[in-house]
Amino acid sequence: MDKKSVTTLTLKQINKHTVYQYIYRQRETSKFQIVQDLNMGLSTVSQNLTTLEKEGLIERNGYFASTGGRKAQIIRIVPDLRIAIGIGILKNMFHLVAVDLYGEAVARETIPLAYEDTPEYYDTFAGEVLHFIEKNEYPTEKISGISIATQGIISPDGSSVTYGAIMGNTRMQLSDFASRLPFPCHLVHDSKAAADLELWNHPKLDSALVFLLNRNLGGAVITNHSVHQGFSMHSGSLEHICVEPDGPVCYCGNRGCLETFCSANALELRSGLSVKEFFLKLRDPDSSGEHLQNIWQDYLRHLAFAIRNLNLLIDCPVILSGYLAPYFLPEDLDRLLGLINEHTPFPLAKDSLLTGTHGQYTPAIGAALFYVKNFLDT
Ligand SMILES: [Zn+2]
Repeated sequence: MDKKSVTTLTLKQINKHTVYQYIYRQRETSKFQIVQDLNMGLSTVSQNLTTLEKEGLIERNGYFASTGGRKAQIIRIVPDLRIAIGIGILKNMFHLVAVDLYGEAVARETIPLAYEDTPEYYDTFAGEVLHFIEKNEYPTEKISGISIATQGIISPDGSSVTYGAIMGNTRMQLSDFASRLPFPCHLVHDSKAAADLELWNHPKLDSALVFLLNRNLGGAVITNHSVHQGFSMHSGSLEHICVEPDGPVCYCGNRGCLETFCSANALELRSGLSVKEFFLKLRDPDSSGEHLQNIWQDYLRHLAFAIRNLNLLIDCPVILSGYLAPYFLPEDLDRLLGLINEHTPFPLAKDSLLTGTHGQYTPAIGAALFYVKNFLDT
């Protein structure tokens, strides 16, 4: 191919990509709108729309209400052209989601399965994933990949877990999954996956501190619009910062880690109730004793202590994410903010304390975004 035709081809691809990205961002648009906003000729836009429609990337369906003259046809991308499967593995279960090109979880399920480092575990796991895909009637070619979020630090090359004290999965390999599933597979630390979802939902954030309030605590640091990984991939492991030197022993071997006060497990241990029961009773004026109020106050106090200290290091909004996040009511956030700002030279603004909305599915959905972004970038 000569230089000129290469350039023409590249330009064509760039135009196609630009038109697709524009429709994606607008969600619903018309041909006229594209011509106007992208400053492209009508025939170029028409050509691109025809190609995109032929390739199944977009659809034209229905009409906008008329503003005089001919009604404009509504143009959208096909959101389920590709489906990414996201998984969040925990000690006794795993969460499974199907995510479309807008990052929406269109199907979700929780499978009870105790983790063990055996071929039988990985066989059962893979069988459940394939069953989920089949049950939702996704043809093989629709699946862009399977992204697995697990507790534990992942090696920089993404091939294995290098620290997995909670689940005992330090020897977990990406190949344990990839060898059993006929799709591309990806392994990610669950805290980082959760932060990816929060970043997706708050695209304007340059920096943030993410507290993953799951059964075990996790965390991540967002800087420059991306999740900070770190030299050996453990940036943001705020679960092991010490909040009370003589506190309870953590699974890491140290005492008084934030994990021992602010994980959902710690809350259950202290109250003797499941998370669901705890909040039901806490919110019920008839059954909520002083005891539960004290436990919750103590939880918020420790969380505030950590937030205040970390916010000195990175001056940015704070996102409460994961399992416990949807349980936070506006009055809890006010109390937490009050505790954070009790004695501090640099108060945190109210609109800088945010909560995630996807609860226990957060790491699974965040993991799936790896393949969603992959598709959108190419
Ligand atoms: Zn610890």
